[in-house]
Amino acid sequence: MQTRLFIDGRFVPAKSGRVYPVLNPADGAVLARVSEGGPEDIDAAVNAAARAASGPWGKMQARERGKILLKIAGLIRDNLDALALLECRTAGKPLGDAKDEMGLAADTFEYYGGAANKHFGETIPVAGAGLDYTLREPVGVCGLIVPWNFPLVIAAWKLGPALACGNTAVLKPSPETPLTALALAALAAEAGLPEGVLNVVPGPGPGCGDALVTHPLVRKVSFTGSTATGTGIMKAAADGIKRVSLELGGKSPNIVFDDADLDLCVEKSVWSVFYNAGQDCCARSRVLVHRRIHDKLVDKLVARTRKFVVGHPEKKGTQIGPIISARQHAKIAMYIASGKAQGAKLLCGGVRPKGVPAKGHYLTPAVFAGADAEMRIAREEIFGPVLAVIPFKDEAEAIALANDSAYGLSASLWTRDVGRVLRVTRAVQSGVISVNTSSSVHLEAPFGGYKGSGLGRELGLKALDLYSEVKNVFISNV
Ligand code: NAD
Repeated sequence: MQTRLFIDGRFVPAKSGRVYPVLNPADGAVLARVSEGGPEDIDAAVNAAARAASGPWGKMQARERGKILLKIAGLIRDNLDALALLECRTAGKPLGDAKDEMGLAADTFEYYGGAANKHFGETIPVAGAGLDYTLREPVGVCGLIVPWNFPLVIAAWKLGPALACGNTAVLKPSPETPLTALALAALAAEAGLPEGVLNVVPGPGPGCGDALVTHPLVRKVSFTGSTATGTGIMKAAADGIKRVSLELGGKSPNIVFDDADLDLCVEKSVWSVFYNAGQDCCARSRVLVHRRIHDKLVDKLVARTRKFVVGHPEKKGTQIGPIISARQHAKIAMYIASGKAQGAKLLCGGVRPKGVPAKGHYLTPAVFAGADAEMRIAREEIFGPVLAVIPFKDEAEAIALANDSAYGLSASLWTRDVGRVLRVTRAVQSGVISVNTSSSVHLEAPFGGYKGSGLGRELGLKALDLYSEVKNVFISNV
């Protein structure tokens, strides 16, 4: 297990000598003592990345860069079980989910490995005598900051396109979940990624993450995390006119009309909010339902929710693991109390299940009915396994409720009426909307948010635009 910072191709201790404990949320055990990066380590990592940008990596053919990314994908697959166990133990996700996510990380490097030599400029018929064309060039050193809920997957979503475009990177994982990012650094070196191209510096937001955002040699900041932190990052990045992309929070609506296939809807809907213990930016935590089928849907949702197996993430059969930390658990408990205090009815869940380790932060999935759009459980991102059901009377009210949010990341729509699908998918302010299913992410398609949910689109070929500059060249023919 790698526990030290990865800078300029080597694992090194923090310059301060500081280490901090990384805990297993399943039982509170100390998994590792990890070097804690500070501003001086960020400075060393950014300088290494800047040197690497002007070294062999900067001159490498796109196809050769792509081959290294394909090797990284292969090495992730070769080490999938070990990586999944590490992710399971740091993030508390059920082992099977962790394996799926390691597979997605590998797929991401594979996709962008293939894309490296398929992202290019264009020739433009301008009104001058000569040839006008554009070049795609790397932005430079990218500061990549990721959260704890999908640690390696989100790192891959940023590193894949950043490296494919020829940039170099300093990755700052969340302090809670740095271990798979450090393991990835070792695999990337084994795959032949030159020294300094990828640096990994775990550490806290203030004192490490902010040093990365404000470092003068960082040209691009890509952040995934909360809207509050993202707002601060955008302001801090303004000083250097740094390129910024943000994947932030959500309060996603799941709109169910009275002609929906209810059984399919219920099965997909519960997973869309309770997967990863609800610690998912796309969690469909607001079910908006036509009042004609409200009671029927609520009964089915509650019956299905009660069946979830909550427990130790390494135990066979577990579907929902622990909450990441005591702090996050307390925040979720506060929202459950606020839902009750504001008059919503808690129909199931929201309690500690029996037979789980004493020091783990477990919570059974909770369903509230009788909620209205003004309640905190309906407006604020809880980032836990809590669902609020709100009735609507017609399509116009459903759209109004869906859009009555500071966020706009994901949405789902359940109906068999094609006309309604066309109207509602247009009207809902959301970067992603799925119809008669609850998927949010397709590796090949753009992903990102409207309004407070972010800026820019990750994944697919669109992500390559975030990590490249466009240079326009005009050559006169005289
Ligand atoms: P967070 O904002 O607290 O932290 C995210 C990352 O930013 C961490 O690495 C943290 O150390 C770092 N950070 C904190 N303060 C910083 C600062 N001042 N400068 C630089 N870096 C700083 O978020 P979190 O609690 O780790 O994750 C949960 C949040 O992330 C939720 O709001 C969730 O919706 C969001 N999220 C969004 C997406 C998406 O794709 N839209 C995906 C996953 C999570």
